[in-house]
Amino acid sequence: MIKEICQLRSDFPALGQLVSGQPLVYLDHAATSLKPLAVIETIDHFYRHETANVHRGAHYLSDKATQKYEDARTLVKNFINAENNSEIVFTKGTTESINLVAQAYGDEYLNPGDEIILTEMEHHSNIVPWQILAKRKKLTVKWVPVTESGELDLNEFKNILNEKTKIVSVVHCSNVLGTVNNIKAIISAAHNVGAKVLVDAAQSVTFMPIDVQDLNCDFLVFSAHKLYGPFGTGVLFGKSELLNAMPPYQSGGSMITSVSKDESLFLGAPQKFEAGTPNVSGAIALGAAIKYVEKIGLANICAHETELLQYTISELNKINGVRIIGNSSSRVNIVSFVTDGIHGADIGQILDQQGVAIRTGHHCAQPLMNKLKLTGTMRVSLGVYNSREDVDIFIRSLNKAVEMLS
Ligand code: PLP
Repeated sequence: MIKEICQLRSDFPALGQLVSGQPLVYLDHAATSLKPLAVIETIDHFYRHETANVHRGAHYLSDKATQKYEDARTLVKNFINAENNSEIVFTKGTTESINLVAQAYGDEYLNPGDEIILTEMEHHSNIVPWQILAKRKKLTVKWVPVTESGELDLNEFKNILNEKTKIVSVVHCSNVLGTVNNIKAIISAAHNVGAKVLVDAAQSVTFMPIDVQDLNCDFLVFSAHKLYGPFGTGVLFGKSELLNAMPPYQSGGSMITSVSKDESLFLGAPQKFEAGTPNVSGAIALGAAIKYVEKIGLANICAHETELLQYTISELNKINGVRIIGNSSSRVNIVSFVTDGIHGADIGQILDQQGVAIRTGHHCAQPLMNKLKLTGTMRVSLGVYNSREDVDIFIRSLNKAVEMLS
């Protein structure tokens, strides 16, 4: 563990509380991260001193709010190395970003008979919008299988990829298996047949540097709340030429150049996709979260979480009856497991009574559960604030739960 991580824990006020009379051990980072003071205080400060709407006022506070909102866009742009700010659209989160692309790009550019490729390890938010689009436009959805080891079968991906493929929408890091996919190879193969690629970076963005220019992805999406930021804010990155060629997703104020009784003319990206009053404090607080993460360094976060995950896996392997799901060597902070003959929800409840928060269930990945012939798993996911002691407490509690329920 890097030394500074121990001190970081005090940045997270939530860790100071007792749950069921025990100090909280939070191992559900993949669902949402705890929030550091830097983010909480940014939101508090905005509402106390800077509340104003953006892009429309002719007064000091509105100018200031607009400046901060646009500064946050620059922070995001630099964080993922986009070419310019117009490629960064603020949304409600990963889910809305994917819906935006499925509707705005999909409706305009996909035609009956076209194909979309997804993978068996997608989160529902990267499945359902495409299924709805496919039904509406008579498209075919094809699936990249997941192998025994919990990795994508890239040979099969290449087999199903063809000139009818128009979209490949793929998760960078699985929220169930923790597998980090070789996204660059996928993007390059998809581009060879002229398909566009959307990368779901909801998990990966929290522990690895993302460079959209180096990846050459067409779209990339993530949520602020998993990146130590606030709820209700997310990002859609899209290449300029694509965003500019897409019709609006929602419409109303703040996205037009003029409105008459006969027609409305739209602003360019990103404003075209930000109809109505945006989540101003959310974007600004996402900026604070990015600054927080950059101060620690993504390389340090990745090293810390990788080391802790290896420790967690080796300790889980010592418990009789525990089976880890997926064993890709390319993983950082997530491990799923099941226990022979004991329901995960029962274990989760006993852990909760000891102040240990893990996730149980299908993790919004039912196609993957079906493939694995499971109804659910237990999942431990680690953030920058987790320590070896957290893992030790979790393992002790798990041992106790298994003993009680066997
Ligand atoms: N994609 C992945 C891989 C996720 O883990 C999640 C959330 O858990 C999502 C998409 C959906 O994110 P949100 O609910 O923030 O829109």
